[in-house]
Amino acid sequence: MAETTRESTESGSLIERPGSTSPQAQPPEEPTRPEVKPISKVAGGMPAAITAAKHAFSEMGVMRGTRTLLQLNQKQGVDCPGCAWPEPDGERSHFEFCEEGAKHVADEATTKRATPEFFKQWNVAELSQQSDYWLNQQGRITHPMVLREGSDHYEVIDWSEAFRLIARVLNSLASPDEAVFYTSGRTSNEAAFLYQLFVRQFGTNNLPDCSNMCHESSGTGMKEAIGFGKGTVALEDFDLADTIFVIGQNPGTNHPRMLTSLLHAKRRGCKIVHINPLPETGLARFKHPQEFWTWIGSGTKLADLFVQVRVNGDVALLKGIMKEVFDAEERLPGQVLDHEFIDTYTRGFEEFKEALRAVHWGDILEQAGVTKVTIEDTARIFIESEHVIFCWAMGLTQHKNAVANIQEIVNLMMLRGQLGKPGAGLCPVRGHSNVQGDRTMGIWEKPSEEFLDKLGNEFGFEPPRRHGYDTVHAIQAMHEGKAKVFFAMGGNFLSATPDTEYTADALRRCRLTVHVSTKLNRAHLITGKQALILPCLGRTEVDKQAAGPQFVTTENSMAVVETSQGKLAPAAPQLMSEPAIVAGLAKAVCSTNLSLSDMKVDWDRLIANYDRIRTHIEHVVPGFENYNERVRQPGGFYLPNPIRKREFKTKDGRAHFTVHPLPQRELEPGQFLMTTMRSHDQFNTTIYGLDDRYRGIRNGRRVVFLNSDDMRCFQFAENQLVDLISHFDGEERIAHRFRVVPYSIPRGCAATYFPEGNVLVPVRYFADKSHTPASKSVVISIRPSKNSRRRAG
Ligand code: SF4
Repeated sequence: MAETTRESTESGSLIERPGSTSPQAQPPEEPTRPEVKPISKVAGGMPAAITAAKHAFSEMGVMRGTRTLLQLNQKQGVDCPGCAWPEPDGERSHFEFCEEGAKHVADEATTKRATPEFFKQWNVAELSQQSDYWLNQQGRITHPMVLREGSDHYEVIDWSEAFRLIARVLNSLASPDEAVFYTSGRTSNEAAFLYQLFVRQFGTNNLPDCSNMCHESSGTGMKEAIGFGKGTVALEDFDLADTIFVIGQNPGTNHPRMLTSLLHAKRRGCKIVHINPLPETGLARFKHPQEFWTWIGSGTKLADLFVQVRVNGDVALLKGIMKEVFDAEERLPGQVLDHEFIDTYTRGFEEFKEALRAVHWGDILEQAGVTKVTIEDTARIFIESEHVIFCWAMGLTQHKNAVANIQEIVNLMMLRGQLGKPGAGLCPVRGHSNVQGDRTMGIWEKPSEEFLDKLGNEFGFEPPRRHGYDTVHAIQAMHEGKAKVFFAMGGNFLSATPDTEYTADALRRCRLTVHVSTKLNRAHLITGKQALILPCLGRTEVDKQAAGPQFVTTENSMAVVETSQGKLAPAAPQLMSEPAIVAGLAKAVCSTNLSLSDMKVDWDRLIANYDRIRTHIEHVVPGFENYNERVRQPGGFYLPNPIRKREFKTKDGRAHFTVHPLPQRELEPGQFLMTTMRSHDQFNTTIYGLDDRYRGIRNGRRVVFLNSDDMRCFQFAENQLVDLISHFDGEERIAHRFRVVPYSIPRGCAATYFPEGNVLVPVRYFADKSHTPASKSVVISIRPSKNSRRRAG
C-alpha cells in the first residue's frame, strides 16, 4: 500500500495525498465503509428537487445556476448533455430538466478550475490514486496540457504546438490505420461531421464510438430485422399507448424525464410492465418533482407488473410470452395474431413459428427464472393491448446474445402488428445526448458505400473503404501494437471500456494518447508515451467564432434534431470548441503530409460559421434537406422514420422474423452471473457523489448486491469484504474488496457498479454481430477477501 501524507486544501480541509507509485488504472479502495440505508420507496419528489438545487447552486452559484437551468432543454436553449430523452414538441414548461440533468450542467458549468498550477502540484501517479469522484471534483481544465515522454507531470502547451505534435506523430505512422479516433456521445453533429471527414481524409475508418458499447446491439438487431436501426416511436406515441413495456432499463436514474411520460400515460389508464433482474424505485412509484403539491403522499404507482427475470433471462421470457400468444390464437383463431400485418409486411413467419413450438417450457422457465403464471400474466397484458411500446436500454444490449434479445422483441411485436401505427413501436432509449446523432453524422467504423460516395463527391477525395476497428477491436489492436495513436473526442475511454487492466496496457503501448475533454478523468492518467489533454467548450458556454456566436445541433433518441446554444462565458479564455479543435488538427496534419496536400477543405471558413458545416451535412446525409432553415424552427425537426409508414428497408422490403436458440446459463457450483449498473449519483463514468439512494447505498460504490438466500448458502455476511473473480476461457480476472449487500435480486445473480466492475469484463467477451461488451452477464465466483489492508486492484 502506498504511503499517504495529509495536507490542507485551499478551503482548509485535510486531504489524503498518497505517495507516488505508477499510475493506477482502477479507482482506489474507498477509505470509508459504504452504509446500507433504507431504500427510497418513491422516485422524484422533494429529494430530487433538493438534490438538483444543491448540485446546481453549490457548483454554479445561485443566480448563475438558476439562469442556466432555466435554459436547459428549452427551444433554442441548451441541450442537456446527459441522456437523449426528447423534449415535448409543443409547449415546454420552464423546468424541462430532471435531477440528473441539473447534476450534468452543474458539473460542466462548475466554477472550480483545474489550472496549470494544479497539474504542477500533482504528478500523474498521485492523481491516479485519487477516486474518480475526486478527479471530477477538481473542476474544468483551463489550458491544453502535455505529458512529455519520461515526465510524470502534465505541463502547459500552446494550441499550435499541440496540433504540430499530434500531426508529427500521425504523419510518422506506417499506415493511417495505425491511428484510432474515438468519439463520445456528447459531441455535436457539427463536430462529429468534421471529425469523421478529417479522419477519412487522413485515410482510415477507425472511428469507434460509445455506441459500440451501448446500443450497437439495438441498431444491429433492428437493421437486420426491419431495415432501420433507430427507435420507431415519437414522444406523442406515449400519449396513445395502452401498455408500455420497460425492459432492461432503469429510467429513474438513467433517463429520468421518461418517468414524466410514464406518469402521464399512467394517469390516463395506460399499463406499465417492468422487466428487470432488480426492482428499481423509479418504476415502482414516482412523484413529479415539479408537482410540489404531491410531495406529501406516496406518489403514483407506475409499474402494474414487475417481472423479476434472471440476469440474461430475457430471450427465455420473450419466447414464453410468444408461446402464450400462439396459445391464445389457437383458442381464439384470427383474433390474436395480426395476420394482415404478418402476411403483408413480413417474411419467415412459418419457420419462426415452428422453431418456437420446439422450445420446451421447462427450459424457458429455468432460464427466465420466473413462474409460468407470471409469463401468462405478462402475455395477457400484451395480448389485451391494441397499442404497445417496448422500451429498453443496456440491460438488453450488453450480453453475448444481445442482438437476439432485440430481435425477439421485434418478433413479439410483429405477431400483433405493433410496428408502424400510432401509440406502438420500438424505443431503444439512448443514454448520451448525441450518441445517435454522431452515428447519423458518419461516426462509424463500418460506413455504408452510399455514405462514403457522397462524402467523397462533396469534398473531392476518395474515402477509405476498408472497415475500421470498433471499440473492443481498437483496444485489442492497441494491445497488439497494430494501433499506435489513440485520439478521443470526449469521454473517459479507460473507465467506459471493459477489461480495465488490459485496456490500460493497450493505452500504455501507444506512442501518443490525446483526449479532448472538459474535466479530469482516469483516462488522462493511463497514457501512451506522450499524452495531451485538449480542453474544450461545454454545451452551456458561448461558442464565438468569426461570424459571431454559433449554435450546434444534436439528435435525440426519437430522431429529433434541435439546436443547442450556450450562454455562459467559457470556463477559460484558452478553451476551443470541438469543431475548432478538429479544424486545427486537420490543418496541422494536412499541411505537413504530402499525400494529403490536395485535400481541399477550407477549414477556417467552416469554423467561422457553422451554417457552412450544416450545408455540407445537408448534401451528404439523407434527411437533412434545408438543414439550416428547418433546425432554426423552435423545436427543430424530425428525421425520416420509414417504419412509421411500414416501409421496411431490408433487401427484400419485408420485415423478418428471426430464430434464436435459447441462451444457456452454464454456471458451475458457486458461480454467479454478474451484471454491472450505474448508481444514482453517476452519469456514465462521471461520478457526482457516493450515494445511490434508490438502492439504499450511502457513501460508497465498491459493493456487490446478492440475494440473501445465496448469502446464507455461501456464508457471506452483510458488509463482509469479498473478492470477485471472473471466469472466461480459462482466464481469471479479480476485483478486490467489495462489500456484500443483501438485495432483491434473483438467486445466482450479482450486481456491481461500473466502472469498478469493468475489470471483470473480458475484452473478448462481447455480443455476437454487434461486438458490444457483454458487461451485463459476466460469470464470477466470490470469495472472502484475504488481506484486509490490501488496496483495490
Ligand atoms: S432526462 Fe436526460 S436529457 Fe432530460 S434533463 Fe434528465 S438527464 Fe437531461
